[in-house]
Amino acid sequence: MAYFRPEDLDKIRSHIDIVEVVREYVTLKRGTGGDWWGRCPFHTEKTPSFHISPDKGVFFCFGCGKGGNVFTFVMDMERVAFPEAVKILAERAGIELREETSTTSTARTEREKIASVIQFATEFYHKQLVSSLNLPEREQVIDYIKRRGISYEMIRLFHLGWSPLDTTLILRAAHERNISIPLLLQSGILIRQRDGSLRDRFRGRLIFPIFNHLGNPIALGGRIIEGVTSPEEQAKYINSPENALYHKGDHLYGLHLAKDAIRNEGSVWLVEGYVDLLAMVEAGWNNTVASLGTALTDNQSRLLSRYADQAFILYDSDSAGYDAAMRAAERLILAGLEVKMVALPKGSDPDSIYRQYGAEGLKNILSQSESFVQFHLRTKQWNEQTSPSAKIRSLKTLLEIISRIKEPLQQDILLRQLSQLTQFSLQALHQSMAQIKIFPEARANEPETHISWAPEHIPERDFIRTLIGYPNLIEQAVSEVTSDNLTHPQLRAIYQVMESFHLQGKPWELASLITHINDPQWTSFITRSEFEKFVPGFEEAEVALKQSIKQMKIWALRKEYETLQTTISQRSQAGEPITELLVQLNKVHKEIARLNVEFSSIQVPDTPRP
Ligand code: ZN
Repeated sequence: MAYFRPEDLDKIRSHIDIVEVVREYVTLKRGTGGDWWGRCPFHTEKTPSFHISPDKGVFFCFGCGKGGNVFTFVMDMERVAFPEAVKILAERAGIELREETSTTSTARTEREKIASVIQFATEFYHKQLVSSLNLPEREQVIDYIKRRGISYEMIRLFHLGWSPLDTTLILRAAHERNISIPLLLQSGILIRQRDGSLRDRFRGRLIFPIFNHLGNPIALGGRIIEGVTSPEEQAKYINSPENALYHKGDHLYGLHLAKDAIRNEGSVWLVEGYVDLLAMVEAGWNNTVASLGTALTDNQSRLLSRYADQAFILYDSDSAGYDAAMRAAERLILAGLEVKMVALPKGSDPDSIYRQYGAEGLKNILSQSESFVQFHLRTKQWNEQTSPSAKIRSLKTLLEIISRIKEPLQQDILLRQLSQLTQFSLQALHQSMAQIKIFPEARANEPETHISWAPEHIPERDFIRTLIGYPNLIEQAVSEVTSDNLTHPQLRAIYQVMESFHLQGKPWELASLITHINDPQWTSFITRSEFEKFVPGFEEAEVALKQSIKQMKIWALRKEYETLQTTISQRSQAGEPITELLVQLNKVHKEIARLNVEFSSIQVPDTPRP
């Protein structure tokens, strides 16, 4: 476990505005009383239920129950462990961290080292393309770029590069910068060939650096140039292998430059390849991203849903294009976006259209979009002559997707469209949809915020919850309950933190309680306890606390009773004396009965009835 000085953590928190951090990922609107609202980045929604309280230094989603402080947020969004989140925020706040264990500094430098190698390679390749005049293949590369119509502005904007055929160049440059061979191998820049020699993975390729949404290079993509790249190189495109910063299917090409435009327009254009993206941007569609050569994933869809309400999917109208577009549409619809489809003429892509017909020609094609429902029916060749059974099959596919849309209004819009286009009544469609088994939404990467409780842990849960909501009750709590009395390990851990704050004679802050617990599920539990006011007022809270303490005692006595029973039966079978144990059993039994009576006599204060 990493150790940071608590005062450093508090310092970071007080220097960092949680609103400013969250804003880099989520569009926020100001609420009443200095609070902020946005659409939750952890679950799919149309109406904002993601709430930030800058005063308390915490966030909480009323939709999915996820909550935490600024550290938790960065951990979840950047998928890093706590020490790295601390590091990221410390850097941002300009605070020097004083103490760390060796393991955290290894983890930190691992990420940092890879980041610096990718940065180095990005700059190296870019320089080869824009200023290195003595490469033997330079003519041909420049010629290719001219033929593809990639402008200098795009090369600059997207930091395109060239990886020379001669691998010794990058080796020499790395050597000058003290970057080791093992690190170049680890970062996926070099590969060791069968004969043991080293070569640049991207040798003889046009380089497209892949940036994360904050604009830092995290991986590289390379495209062959026919006649220049070695003919042994089969794949047209290759990407870096996954590393500590780059996970396939988590990023979108061009998002770091497109995100403001996407936010402003409320919509995004989705293309397949790097070159298509360059053409779109050059033609003036700045709100374009590319899916990086893979089928669009749930993570990518969710990433887009943070910025856009509407997505236009551009696809090649051959059959492979249809299938990919259909899958992408489904993912985006389920992520809560309105989806429009734009069919490109067979065998063409945005790049070829732009080269041939210019921005106007591209605009003509892009203006002919259709809804997902229209797209589906058209590609399934729905018409008057379609047989009833084929119609039903086709409808079921659509209804299955529509049934999984969480936003009722969006569902309604699509159903109405479907009814209009197919002449089936809205009622029949609704009935048919109701029959379709509703699949649980794919939530593999979502935080587990719902904890299931064993009955004996419920009083402990209520005890902790009440204390989180009403920290003033801690005095009363510690006089009757020590952390040993709690059997649930996480709840005990939370209580220990509370106890230690109390011992130091200071109340805890919600955000620092979270820092101490530092487990996503339990930080959500903590924020939830604060925001979902399980107990409505202080008087009720006092009663709730007493009740939970009594119940905890009853559960402890029940355990004791059971243990005594087992011992008694074991001893009596062995012919050992049990009289004393029976006396004790009787005592425990009486105590349970007494507490039960007392428990039922605790009165909830009268509330005036209307
Ligand atoms: Zn949520």
